[in-house]
Amino acid sequence: MDNQGDTTSGIPATKVTRRSVLRAAGTVAAVGALGATGAVNAAGAVAAGDLAGTTEVGEEGSYDAIVIGAGYAGVTAARELRARGRRPLIIEARDRIGGRTWTQTFAGQRIELGANWFSPSQDLVMKELKRYGFGLSPEGVGPDKAVFPVEPGRYQEFGLDAFTHYDNLLARVFEGTRDYFPRPLEPLYAEDKIRAIDGKSLSDRMDDLKLPARDRLWISGTLSNYSGGNSADGALTALAQWWALPGHTTEGWHSLIGQVADDGMKGLLEAMLADARARVIYRQPVAYIADDGRRVTVVTRTGRIFRAPVAVVAVPANVWKHIRFAPGLPPMHAEVAEQGSGVPNAAKFWARVRGDVGRVVANGEEGAPISALFSYYDLGNSEQLMIGFSEDPSLDVSDPAQLNPVVRRMLPKAEVVDVRAQDWGKDEFARGGWALRRPGQLTRHLPAVQRPHGRIAFANDGIASGWTGFIDGAIETGFRAAEQAAALV
Ligand SMILES: Cc1cc2nc3c(=O)[nH]c(=O)nc-3n(C[C@H](O)[C@H](O)[C@H](O)COP(=O)(O)OP(=O)(O)OC[C@H]3O[C@@H](n4cnc5c(N)ncnc54)[C@H](O)[C@@H]3O)c2cc1C
Repeated sequence: MDNQGDTTSGIPATKVTRRSVLRAAGTVAAVGALGATGAVNAAGAVAAGDLAGTTEVGEEGSYDAIVIGAGYAGVTAARELRARGRRPLIIEARDRIGGRTWTQTFAGQRIELGANWFSPSQDLVMKELKRYGFGLSPEGVGPDKAVFPVEPGRYQEFGLDAFTHYDNLLARVFEGTRDYFPRPLEPLYAEDKIRAIDGKSLSDRMDDLKLPARDRLWISGTLSNYSGGNSADGALTALAQWWALPGHTTEGWHSLIGQVADDGMKGLLEAMLADARARVIYRQPVAYIADDGRRVTVVTRTGRIFRAPVAVVAVPANVWKHIRFAPGLPPMHAEVAEQGSGVPNAAKFWARVRGDVGRVVANGEEGAPISALFSYYDLGNSEQLMIGFSEDPSLDVSDPAQLNPVVRRMLPKAEVVDVRAQDWGKDEFARGGWALRRPGQLTRHLPAVQRPHGRIAFANDGIASGWTGFIDGAIETGFRAAEQAAALV
C-alpha cells in the first residue's frame, strides 16, 4: 500500500486550519529550533516562543493517542486503542505501511522483501489470521539437495540426508532449553537458570561444545546469519527461545519457515489497519518527542507538530537513538538504543537464476558474503526464483554483477539474471533486520524496556516476551502498549 500523503482508513482526515496553526504557534517548537536552542526543559516541557520555522500542526483534540510507526506493532496498538474507545493517529516515515514487511511482485510472483513466513505455533498471529479470514499454507518448492561448506570458502553438494547431521548439531546447541525455558513465552520464568547463561553468545556456545572444525563450519552460518553476521553478537538465550517456542525440536524449528498467509504479509496488516479506523500520515519521519507530564508533543522532520495525551512509539528499537526524546530515554531504553536489538546487517534478495541448479538449499559459513540461498519458485525454462540472505554490508545484493561471483562459489552453474533486494541494515527507518537480543539483554533490559516512560509507551518486535524478532512478537507489544497508553487517557 503506497501512499502519497495523509490517508484515512474509515474516518475523514482532519483539516489543518489557520486557527489550529495559530493556536499551536504559541506553544510548540520547531525541530530545527529545538535542536539548536535546546528549547525543552529537563521535564520535557516545550518552552513558549520557540516556534520559529514550524509550518503546520495536527488538529489537537481530534485524536487521543499518537502512534509512531505503521508496522505490525504500531497497527496493532492503533487497533487496540480504537477497541478501547480511543482515537488513534498514526504517523509513518515511509510512503507505505508494513515497515520490515514489504510485499511486492517480481518475475510475476508475489515476493516478500522483509518478513516472509508465519508458523502455526505463533498464537497471536494465528488469532489474527483467523479473525480476518486468512489461511496459512505452504509455499515454495521443497529442496531435493543441500550445499554445505566443507572447508572455508569451499562448498559441496549433499543429499537431503545431510540435514540429519545439521539438525543434530542444532539440537546440541540448544540442549537444555526445556530446563531453562520451561515456559518459552515467559522467558524469565526460570530466572536463576537464565541468569547463569544470558551473558553467553552463540559463538561462546559453539566454543563450549568444542565442535570439530567441519561441524562448526556447518552450523556457524545459521547462527551468525540469525545474529546479523557475527555469532558473537547474538545471545544464546535469544536463539534458544526461538528453538523452545515451537516445541524444543528440529521439526518445530523448521516449521518457522515455509508457510505464508493468503495475500502475504500485506493482506493481514491492511485488514488490521482498516479495523483501527486510524488516520495515517505518511512520509513524516518523527524527529522529536516531548512529554511534559500532561501531554506528548511530536514533531516531524519537516516541522509538523502533533499533540495528544499519550504516544506509542512503535519504531524499531534500533531507531530510538535517532529520535530526540525529552525528557531523555530512561537508562535501560537508552542502553538498548545504543546496543540495538535489530540485527545490524540483514539484506534479503530474490534472485532470478538461470542454469542447471536444481532445487537446492545452500548454507554459507560464518563470514561468507551469502549466508543462505534457496530455491523458492520454479519459473520454467530452466529459470527459478531463489531467496538469499546476506549480512555482509560491503556486498550490494541488488547488483547481479556483484552477486554472480559469490553465488557461484556455492552454486557453480547458477547465473543471476535479475534481482530484487532490500538491505534493512542500510534502511534509515529500520537500521537493522529482525530483532535478536544481544548477550545479557534478556535479564538486564527486557522487563524495563517493556514499561512506559511517562506518557510514552513502546512497541516493537525487539521488546516482546515471546516471539522476539517475529511479527507475533511485534503484535504482542502492540497489545501491551495500547493497554498502557489507554490507561493514561
Ligand atoms: C529480512 C527479514 C526477514 C524476516 N523474516 C521474518 C519472518 O519470516 N517471519 C516473521 O514473523 N518475522 C520476520 N522478520 C521480522 C519482522 O519483519 C519484524 O519482527 C516485524 O516486521 C517488526 O514489526 P515492528 O512493527 O516492530 O517494526 P517495523 O515493521 O520496522 O515497523 C516500524 C515502523 O516505524 C516506522 N518508522 C521508523 N522510524 C520512524 C520515524 N522516525 N518516524 C515515523 N515512523 C518511523 C517504519 O517506517 C516502520 O513502518 C523478518 C525481518 C527481516 C528484516
